[in-house]
Amino acid sequence: MILVLSMKKILYYSTNGRSEKVDFKGALLKGQAPDMGLYMPEIIPTIPLARIHQFSTMNYPEISYEIISPYVGDLVPEKQLKAMLLDAYDFDVPVEKVYDGKYILRLDRGPTCSFKDFAARLMGRLMHYFLRQEGKSIIILTATSGDTGSAVAHAFYGLDNIRVVVLFPRNEVTERQRRQMTTLGGNVNILAVDGKFDDCQSLVKQAFVDPDLEGLNLSSANSINIGRLLPQAIYYFYAFSRVAHKGDEVIVSVPSGNFGDLMGGLIARKMGLPVHKFIAATNENNEFPEFMRTGLYKPIKPSKNCISNAMNVGHPSNLARVFALYGGQMDEYGDVSQQPDIDSMHQDLYAVSITDEETRRTIKTSYEQDRILLEPHGAVGWAGLTRYLDEFGDWSPCISLETADPAKFPDEIIRLTGVNPPLPETMARLGELDEHIYEISGDYKTLKAYLNEFGRRGT
Ligand SMILES: *Cc1c(COP(=O)(O)O)cnc(C)c1O
Repeated sequence: MILVLSMKKILYYSTNGRSEKVDFKGALLKGQAPDMGLYMPEIIPTIPLARIHQFSTMNYPEISYEIISPYVGDLVPEKQLKAMLLDAYDFDVPVEKVYDGKYILRLDRGPTCSFKDFAARLMGRLMHYFLRQEGKSIIILTATSGDTGSAVAHAFYGLDNIRVVVLFPRNEVTERQRRQMTTLGGNVNILAVDGKFDDCQSLVKQAFVDPDLEGLNLSSANSINIGRLLPQAIYYFYAFSRVAHKGDEVIVSVPSGNFGDLMGGLIARKMGLPVHKFIAATNENNEFPEFMRTGLYKPIKPSKNCISNAMNVGHPSNLARVFALYGGQMDEYGDVSQQPDIDSMHQDLYAVSITDEETRRTIKTSYEQDRILLEPHGAVGWAGLTRYLDEFGDWSPCISLETADPAKFPDEIIRLTGVNPPLPETMARLGELDEHIYEISGDYKTLKAYLNEFGRRGT
């Protein structure tokens, strides 16, 4: 297959603008740029619309090759990349019709039942490939608000050249989310932190810039890694190909926390996907909707505890990329040195904050009226879409992302709908397995001591 793209090698720049550009492999293995910025592709290749419409006859792994290969370039031979994609995307991606032209894209059929499987599984395979080539091994250090940890842990479980350390906020994940991480063992190490997700993220960030830990070969698997971001552009093309006809533009609603999912969508749009509007739906952590309203960005500290717990983010890392895409610059603290083009952001994006009360009401009414079972994250997306259509009138096709399986959040759903969401096979046996957890305080010294000891132990 000949891609109608410039086959120029794509380099990756740092959003902070002070690090050297690197190739895909460099960006993937580094995670974060040395200047603390996030890597962004210097060129975003486009796919002709006629080709995008042909995706309707292709399966998920086939479509994924068209999206990902230009970014990887010749660093992975076609045959190997195709094999990785086939292996990573071996599960269903249902697009369910709710009513006239309104669809739910279910991204919850991977092994850990959240959309984070899509990115983690491909990133794991790519990293493993490059590390083997170099004869190196690394420690993946990552913070999770619930779903990243398990997706990453599963994606890397059993790989010989990678060890995984995951930090999670002790009181902010559900038992099922926790068990998905802690029951693996092997090369997967799980730390319960006495703190919030933002504390975990800040601990991880400190470890990455600590010169004393340089010898450990730490790498990040957070949504800041380019390898986590690019795979999240694929399913927007896939969903479009399943619902759209010639001439259609879609509206897509994305429940957002750290804004990696939405950023994948914005990249898809830049690549040529006809999206009329993205809805960036947050929970009560409304720093982005407030920015869109006022033009002033102010992180929320501490972040608010909402029932959509994977979106309890007071300062989304990926906003640095969103700003870069619109010509602005934001550093890792959320300080804005260059305002983005807010007018074009308003053209592409509708940002809305959904309260817990509205999330609960949405779970209840969408079940009673439309017979769809949504969990809190998907409900934030669906509520955002409903708000948009109420304000601007009907549109089709519309796609709302369901980012986790309702069985991950059973308590709210049972209380609101009376339905006990059926347990997917992958989660059914979690209760019987032993958990391996190491508890740490929110103090950086404790993490550092742990990592030093862990590094000494070797593989
Ligand atoms: C991580 C997560 C989100 C938020 O995705 P971001 O890319 O961080 O915006 C939404 N829903 C679920 C279930 C998640 O796990």
